[in-house]
Amino acid sequence: MKALNAVVVKTLPLVPKPIVRRVASRYVAGETLDDALACVAALNAEGCMATLDVLGEDVTRLEETEETVVEYERALDGIAARKLDSNVSVKLTALGLKLDAAHCRRQFARIVDDARRHGNFVRIDMEDSSVTGETLKIYAEARQSYPRIGAVLQAYLKRSPDDAQKIAEAGGNVRVCKGIYVEPPKIAYQDPERIRQGYMELLEILLSSGVYVGIATHDPVLVERALVLLQKLSVPREKYEFQMLLGVARALRRRIVDDGHRLRVYVPYGRAWYAYSVRRLKENPAIAGHVLKGLFLGDGGREK
Ligand SMILES: Cc1cc2nc3c(=O)[nH]c(=O)nc-3n(C[C@H](O)[C@H](O)[C@H](O)COP(=O)(O)OP(=O)(O)OC[C@H]3O[C@@H](n4cnc5c(N)ncnc54)[C@H](O)[C@@H]3O)c2cc1C
Repeated sequence: MKALNAVVVKTLPLVPKPIVRRVASRYVAGETLDDALACVAALNAEGCMATLDVLGEDVTRLEETEETVVEYERALDGIAARKLDSNVSVKLTALGLKLDAAHCRRQFARIVDDARRHGNFVRIDMEDSSVTGETLKIYAEARQSYPRIGAVLQAYLKRSPDDAQKIAEAGGNVRVCKGIYVEPPKIAYQDPERIRQGYMELLEILLSSGVYVGIATHDPVLVERALVLLQKLSVPREKYEFQMLLGVARALRRRIVDDGHRLRVYVPYGRAWYAYSVRRLKENPAIAGHVLKGLFLGDGGREK
């Protein structure tokens, strides 16, 4: 199956868009804000919190960031109007970080202003290592005027324990994840078990200093280790949450919620669903098998 999946990944661009759409429907809430809010309402009914991500292509012109800001404002307004339990996650490159950092700061400040108006929370997703330092800087600056802002640290980056120490001293809110970008061995661990060790090191630094932590993983080994650590440090339920991507590891997600832990689902939506889905499928060849099922069984490989 592995070899077959690799072939599917290579030939993905040839897969008809309707098939990708059927498979993607598991990982993406839909194209519109209404689709996304309906998805959040369903998750809330299941006892899960959510975070909305407006899908966007890499921007090449600063004007393109306008649409993203407006959509985040609409999302925050919609969450408030429907009294949903959801915050938002924002990628700073979609606001022009790689083109003009000052412009990005201004656009981000507009989203933060809207969140402040609603008393909601904004998470800054972490992207590739070329923007790690600047992203953490913008996070720290923005928190001075509005504390309900969170950062993300990636366990594969060798610098992350130092970044965690700094946040531990200042106080804050951090999502910990393994890291999804391809990074060179000089700056990032490659060995899966070493990345897990790095992940646990970050959790220990942050949780033991009282930082609120989002434990973002679908790896059952890490979930077990995190549960042991939470118990060892007697972390209260209000000081952490688990986080998972929409459509991934739903059985594990159910178990965590049933055991009484808080869990937030990352809900991407928007017109850029195709690019996002193809990226997800390429990142995880095992999932390419679902494309095959979609092709032959017509069920989109839906999780039972
Ligand atoms: C809520 C959330 C937010 C994230 N935010 C960021 C971020 O800001 N920056 C960043 O660099 N990375 C982010 N990530 C991605 C993260 O860094 C990992 O790449 C991803 O979660 C896979 O690592 P894992 O811990 O789930 O373990 P893995 O060992 O990679 O995965 C465990 C199992 O989960 C399933 N799985 C994992 N990922 C997927 C997927 N994408 N599609 C389908 N099945 C999958 C597979 O069955 C796999 O066997 C985020 C992840 C989550 C859950």
